[in-house]
Amino acid sequence: MCIFCKIVNHEIPCYKVYEDDKVLAFLDIKPVNSGHTLVIPKTHYQNLEEINEKDLSYLIVAVKKIGKLLKEKLNVIGYNVHENNGLIAGQAVSHIHFHIIPRVEADGLEHWPAGEYKEGEAEEILKKLEN
Ligand code: AMP
Ligand code: ZN
Repeated sequence: MCIFCKIVNHEIPCYKVYEDDKVLAFLDIKPVNSGHTLVIPKTHYQNLEEINEKDLSYLIVAVKKIGKLLKEKLNVIGYNVHENNGLIAGQAVSHIHFHIIPRVEADGLEHWPAGEYKEGEAEEILKKLEN
């Protein structure tokens, strides 16, 4: 059983932020910023590809509610919503989860560096993505 399923089953503890019959939200044990929260479905799905649309819709609506809660109660100005999909993308726990990372003034968190497309590269990508 995965570590997040163990949290759902009360086999390991968590700092619970929100719970209903389908979703659990708890504080990330290694917060990027204070109040960093993970939102998970109670059912085990590995990633975005595996979760069905109904459960994903419910999950993202919960993310919206919890983002609002963090903003209202923790005095944060905004927040990042983040989901790592796959090992290469930094997904350490194979149970889909959305990170909500509160942002406050001068918190020192940087966004990813912006790149640039070479001549024709964007067109090439769109060509590959055509059905
Ligand atoms: P990811 O890299 O997207 O898979 O994120 C996994 C996150 O889970 C990391 O930010 C970890 O700090 C967090 N994490 C791992 N174990 C626990 C735990 N027992 N309780 C709370 N957060 C955890
Ligand atoms: Zn799981």
